[in-house]
Amino acid sequence: MTNKQAAIKIIKRLGRNGFQALLAGGCVRDMLLGRRAHDFDVATDAAPADVIKIFKRTLKVGAKFGVVIVLLEDKQVEVATFRTEAGYIDGRHPGRVKFAGAAEDAGRRDFTINGMFYDPLRRQVIDYVDGQADLKKQIVRTIGKPEERFGEDYLRMLRAVRFSTQLGFAIEPGTWSAIRSNAKNITRISGERIAVELEGILVDPNRSAGAVMLIKSGLAEAIFSGFADREAKFAIKVLYELRTKVDFALALAGLFSGCPEEFTREKCQILKLSRSQNKHIKFLMTNRGKLLDDRMSLAELKMILAEPYFRDLYELQRAIEKARPDGRGGIAALGRLRKRIKALGDVELRPKPLLNGHDLIRLGAVPGPGLGQLAEEMYIAQLEGKLQTPQQARQWAKKWLQKHRIIEK
Ligand code: ATP
Ligand code: MG
Repeated sequence: MTNKQAAIKIIKRLGRNGFQALLAGGCVRDMLLGRRAHDFDVATDAAPADVIKIFKRTLKVGAKFGVVIVLLEDKQVEVATFRTEAGYIDGRHPGRVKFAGAAEDAGRRDFTINGMFYDPLRRQVIDYVDGQADLKKQIVRTIGKPEERFGEDYLRMLRAVRFSTQLGFAIEPGTWSAIRSNAKNITRISGERIAVELEGILVDPNRSAGAVMLIKSGLAEAIFSGFADREAKFAIKVLYELRTKVDFALALAGLFSGCPEEFTREKCQILKLSRSQNKHIKFLMTNRGKLLDDRMSLAELKMILAEPYFRDLYELQRAIEKARPDGRGGIAALGRLRKRIKALGDVELRPKPLLNGHDLIRLGAVPGPGLGQLAEEMYIAQLEGKLQTPQQARQWAKKWLQKHRIIEK
């Protein structure tokens, strides 16, 4: 059973119980565009209590706001009661919800293209907001007055940029000018929610157009204060050059590719990224430029090649060099690096050390920082190809210990 089939099953069942139920929002938009929808949401005049009664397995997390998740086999479908949202107090959360009819429910949604319903049984689009006309015109337009709608929930500004980026639609001029005049208020939205929309914009293949909108609207500057014009212009080019499929960390490193590492770290904190995302970005930012260095030793090359994010580092550097007006030298350096990598063949990048800590202690090394240093230098010599056998390593280690006079008598 697909998500769509699960949603339709739920709609039929609600219908048999005397309720109106429709597909709603993003999935209707995507169906009309012939795009694949990820989730099929159901909207209904059944109250959450009715939905919970009708279906055996439900999750009631959002029942207060009219949303129940219905579980069918391994699928989860959001079933939301038609509602209006009123009394936004803080530009983020509606103060209360009121259950209502389909037309009112359409009116609370963000953009006309997201405000349509579809009746799968009668095969009918139900469109109270002229969404179909805007789909044809390929524009993102708020339902109702943009100033008011953004004032209710400032996140919608970023959502407008996301839909415009993902669908390749223009933002309607009135909607755009309201985004520009309200951009500063995006700081009232939590970093996590900003990050979700920003990720949608920056991982999309059309990300550089998205970045242009983020910058021109003032949203980028509002989210990342101090993100200056020159860096922004460079970022747009780098994002344009990056390969089609990237993850959020690589895209962010692209966005900040003209900025110092410390600035990037500070700005990314706002987004409350995961530890592994932060690590990923940090690796890309600290190692920028390294791959262009022809003097990189064999050991350094092997170590950086063994890094899980090496491919992303290479891709970022390639995009940076392509974006630079004088990047030809950099591109040539990357070509030389590729040759070096190819010449390595399938050599093991992270072989087991020829000697372990116990072996070194047996040779007379004293446990402590000295031992760590010995092990590290010996491993580098091994990666350089200077040491091939444990025998060679033992001799090398003995010499090292004599030289550093930390051999135990
Ligand atoms: P996607 O395909 O990216 O999931 P979507 O349109 O389904 O896009 P969701 O965030 O999943 O977007 O939201 C589902 C629907 O809920 C939207 O189509 C829209 O009608 C409504 N919606 C979501 N967020 C808001 C919001 N902040 N303000 C008003 N309506 C919203
Ligand atoms: Mg959705």
